[in-house]
Amino acid sequence: MDFVTLFGIYVAVVLTCIALVCRYSGQQHTPFSRVYSTLSEIVSPWIPQCIQNIFYRSMHRLFHQRNRFFIYLHLILEAAVYGEFSYEIFGFCLEMDTTLFNVCLPYFFLAIKSYIFYLCCSKDPGTLTKENHAVQLKVYQYDDKLFQEGIVCQTCQLVKPARSKHCSVCDRCVQRFDHHCVWVNNCIGAQNTRFFLLYLLSVCAMAGDIALLTADMLFHTVLRSGIMHAHYVGQQQPVGPLFVIQHLFMTFPRIVFMLGFVVFVFFLVAGRCGSVVWAANAIRSCRGALDKRMHYSTSDTSCCSNSFKQIVVS
Ligand SMILES: [Zn+2]
Ligand SMILES: [Zn+2]
Repeated sequence: MDFVTLFGIYVAVVLTCIALVCRYSGQQHTPFSRVYSTLSEIVSPWIPQCIQNIFYRSMHRLFHQRNRFFIYLHLILEAAVYGEFSYEIFGFCLEMDTTLFNVCLPYFFLAIKSYIFYLCCSKDPGTLTKENHAVQLKVYQYDDKLFQEGIVCQTCQLVKPARSKHCSVCDRCVQRFDHHCVWVNNCIGAQNTRFFLLYLLSVCAMAGDIALLTADMLFHTVLRSGIMHAHYVGQQQPVGPLFVIQHLFMTFPRIVFMLGFVVFVFFLVAGRCGSVVWAANAIRSCRGALDKRMHYSTSDTSCCSNSFKQIVVS
């Protein structure tokens, strides 16, 4: 298989992953789940029952119970990216007259992100308890559509306040529940949504900054080497962009793969941030339009106003 085919497959895989994750993130029924179900139906008769039980137990432990696996995975990936950046790119950037401030900026983002990450992991998302239950019942109005009055959580034995939900992973009811995030091993709810959004923004800034510095380093390396003006031996024809890309892959394989990874992370997290901001704007315009009419009912707008509060007030 020649280089162009390999490079095409690499780019196609990265772009496909970005598109699929952005398209189906947060959805329960996706093409992946259907393919997984079909494959498990086909393969399961051929696999011994004990191995299947170990597999299902591992999956259940990984995705349906609180555990620190994704926190460790997150730290390992981060250490790999920063290790590569410090080992190969930091020195190059200094040689190319990039200012010390710009080269050190990723470490500044790392420090901020680590602190926010710690807050996301450790802060109580807003667990519903017998002590705060009476107060929480008054915070949001029931809309009688998504949130109906008088529904009792069978596990916690508490009447669910509007916008609260029982997290099956943490086994508790959480005020203004958004989702359970495996990367921070915690629910995202009323009291830590702001930290979660800051966490997404800091990861986005970190990945974007490293991607820019890496791309800048590769670009200047190509310019300085003069490879764009080189010729094939015995020919007048200059080498093309594909040759330059191949040269970069061969000379800096880890850096090029790291660049692909951080670009993937950037679009993944930026997509999540963008969807939250889009939701905030949609809710704001919805609220504005309704305010102008001045004849909407309280129950129709409670959901909108609560969602907006969740994003801007928390
Ligand atoms: Zn509950
Ligand atoms: Zn949870």
